[in-house]
Amino acid sequence: MKRAIIKNLLQQDEFNQKVLVKGWVRNRRGSKNVAFIALNDGSCLNNIQIVVDFSKLGEEVMEGVSVGASLSVEGMLTESAGGGQKMEVVADKIEVLGVADPEKYPLQPKKHSLEFLRDIAHLRFRTNTFGAITRVRHAMIFAIHKFFNDNGFYNIHTPIITASDAEGAGEMFQVSTLDFKNPPLNEEGEIDYKQDFFGRKTNLTVSGQLEAELAALAMGQVYTFGPTFRAENSNTTRHLAEFWMIEPEVAFNDLNDNMDLAESMLKFVTQYALDNCMDDLLFLSKRLKDEEKGKKANEQSMELIEKLKSIVDNDFVRLTYTEAIDILRNSKPNKKKKFDYIIEGWGADLQSEHERYLVEKHFKKPVILIDYPAEIKAFYMKMNDDGKTVRAMDILFPGIGEIVGGSQREERLDVLQAKMKAMNIPEEEMWWFMDTRRFGSVPHSGFGLGFERLILFITGMNNIRDVIPFPRAPKQAEF
Ligand code: ATP
Ligand code: MN
Repeated sequence: MKRAIIKNLLQQDEFNQKVLVKGWVRNRRGSKNVAFIALNDGSCLNNIQIVVDFSKLGEEVMEGVSVGASLSVEGMLTESAGGGQKMEVVADKIEVLGVADPEKYPLQPKKHSLEFLRDIAHLRFRTNTFGAITRVRHAMIFAIHKFFNDNGFYNIHTPIITASDAEGAGEMFQVSTLDFKNPPLNEEGEIDYKQDFFGRKTNLTVSGQLEAELAALAMGQVYTFGPTFRAENSNTTRHLAEFWMIEPEVAFNDLNDNMDLAESMLKFVTQYALDNCMDDLLFLSKRLKDEEKGKKANEQSMELIEKLKSIVDNDFVRLTYTEAIDILRNSKPNKKKKFDYIIEGWGADLQSEHERYLVEKHFKKPVILIDYPAEIKAFYMKMNDDGKTVRAMDILFPGIGEIVGGSQREERLDVLQAKMKAMNIPEEEMWWFMDTRRFGSVPHSGFGLGFERLILFITGMNNIRDVIPFPRAPKQAEF
């Protein structure tokens, strides 16, 4: 008999058929004559109930059936008499595939803290919370590819190992096969990277953008969806050392087109979650409510489903950096010196506390901030006619802060060259990038969406280490 996936089984209404199910025991309870096993196979949040009648099978069949053990069960799919579930499997045959010593198995059918689960990340997939997050994460990956595919984009794989460090100076992980203890030296006594594997110094990429630009200037609309790495030593709930980024890049798009693209994409994937992940979202909504029980009413977050709907239903606020600075300068927390970083005036880099004030307190919806001072943004962003600001856009989300960073790119060769010179970025090493501005340059735009920040938002989780299966952060690479 073929194994039935529990998710499919639970949608059935043809009872009194023989079925075979396999999975892990989430719970067991019962009496002298009968046992009830909650079996989960990861396909959905819900378990299937297995009924074991001792008068039919003998009590011995329950040997080794403890929380965490894996089972194969054959039986009759039966309409359930008890409340709580629509159906159950009345077992004919139970085989224990793998035992889980109850004395040693760390997961019990009770609430475990997220911190504890982080220490056993190899087993946390087996909890309701991480099962739900894993399924939602998958749905979001699929939705992102669907959005771009439906809109005529091509997916580009950009390199993970890169020799360009123009963007992430100092924040990159080096890739090398040289002997640490005894590296080859050049005449100046410095490490001779000519003898390294790639014949030059290489790093893990911080972004696929520069390569995506090359593709966009031939393919029109492209996107990357790959791993990115940042050696920033920031132990925050919003940063990972290894995370996944979605980076569309579109020829002929200006900043307004770029904002429209980002907003419609975020709305599409949020709607996709609402349409396809409701069971898991309802569970996560309840989890969030439980977690915030002790908080004051004005400190509690919006109910998860309601929050997701509000993203789909409302236009994002669009305003300039200069307007934002005015709002922040006159805000209560700034005047009362409640911010860690007080906004003195134009030119200040916005911290997460400022971003969250704008989104959560002032506008109460997502905000797209544009036209930032050139000094605080990357070299490739298009200079505005004012000579002071660039065509940057950051999208700020409630509870998250920055979720998207993007811009219209500087397509004018001479302006780009001058900018790179001023910022000490060696043009020669980027000759291939400069060539796009030399040959058939066009206005173009793109952005980077941090995938885990999106998942934080969709799931209502608080710590980015809980929305990626195996988080990489300073001093953390166990699993
Ligand atoms: P932040 O100011 O929050 O550190 P950033 O300005 O460094 O972000 P970008 O370089 O613009 O971010 O990267 C694009 C997007 O990638 C960000 O908007 C964010 O969603 C995500 N991102 C950036 N750094 C990280 C990180 N260390 N971990 C997870 N996601 C990140
Ligand atoms: Mn950063």
